Amino acid sequence: MRTDMLIGGEWTAGSGSTFPTFNPATGEVIAELPDATEADVDAAVRAAAVAFRSPEWGGLLPAARARLLLRVADLLEEHADELARLETLDQGQPLAVSAGFSVPNAIEHFRYYAGWVTKITGVSSPLSVPDADHRTVREPLGVCGLITPWNFPLMILVWKLAPALATGNTVVIKPAEQTPLSTLRLAELMAEAGVPAGVVNVVTGGPETGRALVRHPSVKKISFTGSTAVGREIGAECGRTLKKVSLELGGKAPSIITADADIDAAVQGNLLGGLLNSGQVCAAYTRFYVDGKRHDEFAEKLAGAAGSLRLGDGLHPDTHLGPLVSAEQVEQTARYVAVGREEGAELLTGGGRPGGELSAGFFHEPTVFAGVGQDMRIAREEIFGPVLAVMPYEDPEELVGLANDSEYGLAASIWSRDIATANRLARRVKAGTVWINMMQGLDAAAAWGGTKSSGIGREMGWEAITAYTEVKSIWTSHI
Ligand code: NAD
Repeated sequence: MRTDMLIGGEWTAGSGSTFPTFNPATGEVIAELPDATEADVDAAVRAAAVAFRSPEWGGLLPAARARLLLRVADLLEEHADELARLETLDQGQPLAVSAGFSVPNAIEHFRYYAGWVTKITGVSSPLSVPDADHRTVREPLGVCGLITPWNFPLMILVWKLAPALATGNTVVIKPAEQTPLSTLRLAELMAEAGVPAGVVNVVTGGPETGRALVRHPSVKKISFTGSTAVGREIGAECGRTLKKVSLELGGKAPSIITADADIDAAVQGNLLGGLLNSGQVCAAYTRFYVDGKRHDEFAEKLAGAAGSLRLGDGLHPDTHLGPLVSAEQVEQTARYVAVGREEGAELLTGGGRPGGELSAGFFHEPTVFAGVGQDMRIAREEIFGPVLAVMPYEDPEELVGLANDSEYGLAASIWSRDIATANRLARRVKAGTVWINMMQGLDAAAAWGGTKSSGIGREMGWEAITAYTEVKSIWTSHI
């Protein structure tokens, strides 16, 4: 596959300076990639602006654009195994996750938005002004900058890319520097599917490359998924230059387990919901509010199940839990484990790094703390690693207050046999998404995004169509 950048349909090495991407399971360098400069970003944005106005893209009728997106989906499906292996190699997630979740989700996103292309309508309004008609049309924005994180590089990119293209925009993508490979392969396959030159451009690099894209005056919208700190900076810059912006940021999802919950089902669902992709999930279930009468039972069963998971190279079919993405992420996880111990939480399982043949990779054991207090840092801060915090609650009346006592509001989960109680809680918890008696589910049709410091805007569903279009009002005189 190509490991240079795609700008205006040409593969280019940029200025010559490079950065490495690693296999997190072994710590080995897989490839060196161009570190895009401001001039490279400018070239990519210019190419996208030209493509936006071109007859090959701007002049494409909706049915033809829909067919093109369906062709992309079919080609991705033909290469699904290869894409899954590449994602695992660069990001670390087990093949069960990449092949069973990330890649199929990305493919279905293209199909879902191909369906929307021919159904993006405006409205005709009942005016109280005499002798005139009014109608609205939804128009694309222009060049959109898509900046993605490293936890689900392909899937999260497609959440942005599919609706951006379905609505007729062109894009410049800046993948995370830790995991650029699946993005580059996707871009290569899209060109092969017939997406015209300049419609999809990729610049590789770190924060400086991202900043150049955000600052660029010809970029009309930034869609960013990543940390809350960077989201604040991007939001401020977009405010200054009056760009549209969508921000999908961090989380610290509460999971509520009521006294009547099916504890075995809750343990299984929360184990998956907390440790999927080794906890590197923005919506990971991380703080478990368990009715005091069931706390010990839940915590012990959760710790037993977590302790029995098999760590290993994601490419190995028997692996339950892969490595973290980077040495930095292992250090961050280890720091929080030390903090949890110092704060007096009870460590039930894990807490360290595995040795032996895994010692060269970026691994950390799944770790469960019990008896965690609401004010402990491991209950408040996003760790983004395999660390779970179990906390007892005594008064159901306090429960919503505890769950909502967080800077974040991305997601929450509720486990109860009483569906009326579960739904009452779901209405009161402040979160963009609530799952009842299930681990995280995602579907292109279901709106996704956060409240509070977890973000601004929504992806997926019709919401993403509105996020990549502008409404124009057209008036016509009858006289
Ligand atoms: P990050 O914020 O460090 O980086 C994300 C991307 O932004 C990378 O491509 C990076 O190079 C780029 N970037 C960094 N600084 C920049 C700047 N100043 N200007 C422009 N671009 C810049 O995040 P990460 O560590 O890659 O990802 C983990 C974070 O992402 C977690 O906080 C997680 O919760 C969040 N996340 C959120 C969602 C969601 O849907 N809400 C999904 C996945 C991940």
